Amino acid sequence: MKTLKIAIQKSGRLNEKSVELLKNCGLNFENYKSSLISPVSNFPLEILFLRDDDIPEYVQDGIADLGIVGENVIQETEVEVSYLQKLGFGKCSLKIAVPNNNTIDDLQQLNGRSIATTYPVILGKFLKEKGITSDIRTISGSVEISPGLGLSDAICDLVSTGGTLKSNGLKPFADVMSSEAVLIGRKGSENEDLVQELIQRIQSVLRAKE
Ligand code: ATP
Ligand code: ZN
Repeated sequence: MKTLKIAIQKSGRLNEKSVELLKNCGLNFENYKSSLISPVSNFPLEILFLRDDDIPEYVQDGIADLGIVGENVIQETEVEVSYLQKLGFGKCSLKIAVPNNNTIDDLQQLNGRSIATTYPVILGKFLKEKGITSDIRTISGSVEISPGLGLSDAICDLVSTGGTLKSNGLKPFADVMSSEAVLIGRKGSENEDLVQELIQRIQSVLRAKE
């Protein structure tokens, strides 16, 4: 029997809840911070600990059979994977925010303005749908300091409580997408039986929580 592989985030916002979900499924594994692969002792499964950005491609390419990742990352990487189950954690929204003192109050006013983001693909599609042409500035992190530094007029970033926006003098202005952690897989996996068994375990853990 082949061993399934599931990719989860190595460290960060989704790591703890992903590990907890798998443990609640009755899977026994060590969770050393140093290891990248952990075998499960009581199920033919290995857990791969990766950067979240790499998870959709690993699943698309068949290196992992399953993955747990935010919908935002899947949309941004534009991969072909199947959504198997929403997981109810890692909830956040991708929002456009502007400085508190800004008078922008209508989406059309973003025309010709610059927006800093780590999500250029999702933001680009959103603006295109609205018929808005902005200068999208792709940066790799700390997006929220960009207007204060004079690098952009607005930002597009993930928000959960809004605390980070507030402490950087920004206010949310438009919702681009909402996101949560999801279980993803690939169509036509060779191990459909094992995949189904794992999905069922995950679904019963989620049901028990309701
Ligand atoms: P990695 O090192 O794996 O690349 P990262 O820095 O890209 O990590 P995290 O900040 O750990 O990512 O966020 C992982 C995911 O958690 C996000 O892609 C998103 O789906 C979700 N999330 C939930 N709330 C928030 C939030 N307030 N800010 C950012 N991400 C959030
Ligand atoms: Zn990441």
